[in-house]
Amino acid sequence: MAEKTIFSRIIDGEIPGSFVYQDEHCVAIRDINPAAPVHVLVIPRKPIPSIADLTPEDHALAGHLLMVVRKVAEQEGVAERGYRVVINAGDEGGQTVPHLHVHVLGGKQMHGHGTA
Ligand code: 5GP
Repeated sequence: MAEKTIFSRIIDGEIPGSFVYQDEHCVAIRDINPAAPVHVLVIPRKPIPSIADLTPEDHALAGHLLMVVRKVAEQEGVAERGYRVVINAGDEGGQTVPHLHVHVLGGKQMHGHGTA
């Protein structure tokens, strides 16, 4: 079996994580190296490597992740002011952890698309 991702290890309680939300399909944790005052990662429990690996059977899960993003933004108090949602995919997309995750960034003014 492939080695567990760092996010699967956090989900399974093998290493600590700062959880802000959990349900049967996904979790949300604070990013260990926050790029904004609010920086939460919404992560499916299923270890899908990247958005490129989603299959038709993940249709509902993919939608659910966005609904959880919305919930987390409200919970973190940035829903009204605005926030940024980012999914990095693959090497050139800047993805460093091969377990699909959605960044929720907020609490400061952002511009452009973050192409640095
Ligand atoms: P990516 O670059 O793959 O889109 O984002 C990976 C994110 O995971 C980075 O923002 C990084 O700071 C975060 N990260 C990496 N390792 C850990 C960890 O062990 N715990 C937490 N909470 N976040 C992590």
